Amino acid sequence: MSTDEPSVPIVCDECETETRVPLDDLADALDKHNAQKHDGDAVAEVDPAIKDRLADLVAEDLGLFDEEATEEP
Ligand SMILES: [Zn+2]
Repeated sequence: MSTDEPSVPIVCDECETETRVPLDDLADALDKHNAQKHDGDAVAEVDPAIKDRLADLVAEDLGLFDEEATEEP
């Protein structure tokens, strides 16, 4: 079992399901579910509670906050 791979919960209001998928498969899993179950509508999405954290992590990863601090008049 690999426990070091981060998994992300996907929730779907219409299907009332929650599925955990590896971060690498996230986009694919979302596309697939929405394409197969909802004619391509973006119904299923990342758990909103996680989405915020995910955005923070990605932003930190890109160093966006560091860039802002370097700008001087
Ligand atoms: Zn669904």
